Amino acid sequence: MPARRSRLAALLFALFVPALMGAGPSAAPPGLDIYFIDVLGGAATLIVTPERESILIDSGWPNLEDRDPKRIVHVLKHVVHLDHLDHMVSTHWHTDHYGGIEGLSKMVRIEHFWDRGLPDYSQPNEDAANFPDGPKENDPLGIAYRKASESKRKTLKAGDTLPLKGEIKTFVIAASGRVIDAKDSPGGASGTRNAACDHAPPDTQPDRSDNARSLAFVFRLGKFDFVDCGDLTWMMEKALVCPVNLVGQIDLYQVTHHGMGISNHPTFVESIAPTVAVMNNGPRKGGSPSTVVLLNKTPSIKASYQLHRNIETGPEENADPDMIANKNLEGGQYIQVNVAPDGSKFSVRIGPDGEPKTFASR
Ligand SMILES: [Zn+2]
Repeated sequence: MPARRSRLAALLFALFVPALMGAGPSAAPPGLDIYFIDVLGGAATLIVTPERESILIDSGWPNLEDRDPKRIVHVLKHVVHLDHLDHMVSTHWHTDHYGGIEGLSKMVRIEHFWDRGLPDYSQPNEDAANFPDGPKENDPLGIAYRKASESKRKTLKAGDTLPLKGEIKTFVIAASGRVIDAKDSPGGASGTRNAACDHAPPDTQPDRSDNARSLAFVFRLGKFDFVDCGDLTWMMEKALVCPVNLVGQIDLYQVTHHGMGISNHPTFVESIAPTVAVMNNGPRKGGSPSTVVLLNKTPSIKASYQLHRNIETGPEENADPDMIANKNLEGGQYIQVNVAPDGSKFSVRIGPDGEPKTFASR
């Protein structure tokens, strides 16, 4: 490049790049940010701490020309303005939760991988029960995951934490079918019996699928608590709150398992008593009428968001249209939560330009 054009390029760079990086329309105020990225019935929840560390919980679906990794990278690079991912967490071994990792790892540097463990193929009988849904030895997604995460992967158990900087605390409240001990739990070590368990619905058969083995987390900043239970199902959710509430009261609830009715145990939802619910459903996945009805009648819930309208159910079995992020089937719009640096309050908005609604943390 001739010197004059090179100087002109440098001038333009100096003028415009700070404007792009700084307080553009999509830049959030400092604090803790949580983005529920639309991956059409999969899961991809990006958390950015006040120290600007990034944690992605689940990576959406594979294939589809890397639609989901591209959506994640767009938010990471162009909304949050980070150039890498610090922590990649996969809650369990279903395609809609870890399928995006192969594509994602080609687009962005990932420093640490966290999961519930991978099967040891030299112990096929023992691991058949622990890993009912794979990944099987010859599964291309499993092979891609092992390759991307090689020498950077750690297994999480109930009671573990993520090594994050600053004031934010993480609790792994369930992993591989076990729940956290009361003494380590975010609900406190009091061990008081939860009265809500007295009117719990009848127990269902234990779920043998990988859903019940999902990693589940509480993230805490001051008074603010966020829970993401992956795809945990009824009896595991009940074990988290009965006989003792190990979770405590929650401000922000990622509606479990895309809002499916085999998850979102009524006693669990009653006990964690969320203020805001965000459902990562797709137009034809999740958003069961029983879950929507349960959320609507839960007295603690002040606002209930969905990524999509369930197109197979009526308006009364969906959230208020103003609280649904995507109006068309292709979607792509995220829901963003910004938590004040001291955790005292949080605001929720749809996309970069949505009207924020603010709530006090409890
Ligand atoms: Zn799922």
